[in-house]
Amino acid sequence: MLPHRRAVARPLSPSSVAGAAVGSVANAMLVSSALLFALVCVTVLPGASLPDSELTAARPIEDYARYDGQSTCAPAAKPGTKALQSWMVRTYGGSKGPISRPCNSGGQSEHKEGRALDWTMDAAEAADRTAVRRWLDDVFAADGQGRPHAKARRMGIMYIIWDDRIWRSYDEFAVGPYTPCKPVTDCSKTARHRDHVHVSLSRAGGRGDTSWYAGRL
Ligand SMILES: [Zn+2]
Repeated sequence: MLPHRRAVARPLSPSSVAGAAVGSVANAMLVSSALLFALVCVTVLPGASLPDSELTAARPIEDYARYDGQSTCAPAAKPGTKALQSWMVRTYGGSKGPISRPCNSGGQSEHKEGRALDWTMDAAEAADRTAVRRWLDDVFAADGQGRPHAKARRMGIMYIIWDDRIWRSYDEFAVGPYTPCKPVTDCSKTARHRDHVHVSLSRAGGRGDTSWYAGRL
């Protein structure tokens, strides 16, 4: 490592003092211009200047989404649903399952409003179970201010079904059994959600209007 050079004090001539003063003014103007430019960028182009996580954190966190089940039929995939599904696959692996479902298929489902997504994962595979567990831990983690289930709330997640279990936002994501038929072992692995994870979003989450989607759409 090189030793630090020692600064040598020497007297300044009047002309060098004047030059330094001019230089200081010029430097101050440069710094001011740079600050103004940075301010304009932050103000006018927030998406270009701040990472997604900071844009999200800058907005208030949402409360737990209430239950608001499918009541109309508009199956085209909503922008928030598509963004969340892409992020899940990009971050945790697996592959994209369907979002939309035809209106004439049986039963109530947020898939018919384009605000539910399936994430192809296999509960019989240890690696897939680990990936889903890591995703659940991520979206259910408390944020820096100790607010539980922070990402899930910001994403507008309404409920999750996976491997015979359901997590409901309107029950503060307490885990419960999911039994599409009895005994559950008689159900298909698709009905039991052992070959995919299902995520239903609130209407606001589906539209991408909740805070997690800031800068992502
Ligand atoms: Zn589904």
